[in-house]
Amino acid sequence: RQEQFRALRDVEPVTLDGKRISLMMNAGLMVDLPQLSESGADGIGLFRTELQFMIASTMPKLEEQEAFYRNVIKQANGLPVTFRALDIGGDKVVSYFRSHEEENPALGWRAIRLSLDRPGLLRTQLRALLRASAGAELKMMLPMVTDVSEIHAVRDLLQKEVQHLSKFGHNLPRRLQFGAMLEVPSLMWQLDELMAEVDFVSVGSNDLFQFTMAADRGNARVSDRFDMLGKPFLRMLREIVRAAERNQTQLTLCGEMAGKPLSAMALIGLGFQSVSMSATAIGPVKAMLLSLDAEKLAQALNAALDEKRSQEPIRALLIRFAAEN
Ligand code: PEP
Ligand code: MG
Repeated sequence: RQEQFRALRDVEPVTLDGKRISLMMNAGLMVDLPQLSESGADGIGLFRTELQFMIASTMPKLEEQEAFYRNVIKQANGLPVTFRALDIGGDKVVSYFRSHEEENPALGWRAIRLSLDRPGLLRTQLRALLRASAGAELKMMLPMVTDVSEIHAVRDLLQKEVQHLSKFGHNLPRRLQFGAMLEVPSLMWQLDELMAEVDFVSVGSNDLFQFTMAADRGNARVSDRFDMLGKPFLRMLREIVRAAERNQTQLTLCGEMAGKPLSAMALIGLGFQSVSMSATAIGPVKAMLLSLDAEKLAQALNAALDEKRSQEPIRALLIRFAAEN
């Protein structure tokens, strides 16, 4: 099967009914980069920048960060890379950084919250990203956004960095694409404000599911207890797709569910045209979508999601659809 997937590397990911789906890969370290061309991914949809921090024994300096990003961009060889601003805290532990014990680290002082309280840390990263992308496009996004005001605050810092760099004669990125991850449920009631504010939205389904179901993603007793392909979560994702269409905002999803062929099928049925996953999942997901009638699935899936009393679980419907079509 591995051989079969490799043969698909240069095949365009287009559904039977002609929808071009963008298949991106997730990465975080230099060792991931060769997989970009091996997998035939369209680019890196999620680059987890905190990994450089997690494997270091001291805080990476501006020059180290810049050199690292520069190298990533070079190795990506013209394919787009979406850098995610530091997502420290929760399940992502940086030994030399955190000092206080927290009762609920997943709900605690982490990601963009921490970055906004330590603006020096964030500004250093923004500066490194801007410098590494000089003359090119910089695509970056913020993790764990809970309130749209947090985006404004980061934009202000970014603007300061841009001014600082141009004042000192540095070359700036040719274009900046600024996005937010949607992984905290509070954003569901700020979708239009959010989408007016950013160039793209990327759903972090691992955290969005964890927070929606109040089920710790790292706790085996509860993490599989509720179905990602059940009604509540799929209805939630459908709302996000509708908002993105309404606002003409680029939308992607970069959680683990994108890498499972059955869930990826559901996502395409909901209207996602871009997904990002681990590199090894690109082949299997592409094989699935090449034989998928997305429109037919969309109709069946939407009808099932609209039902008040379910005929069958959505997962069963998806399995049946995959077998019959
Ligand atoms: C997610 O939460 O779905 C996500 C992609 O980010 P991470 O897994 O790094 O938290
Ligand atoms: Mg996350």
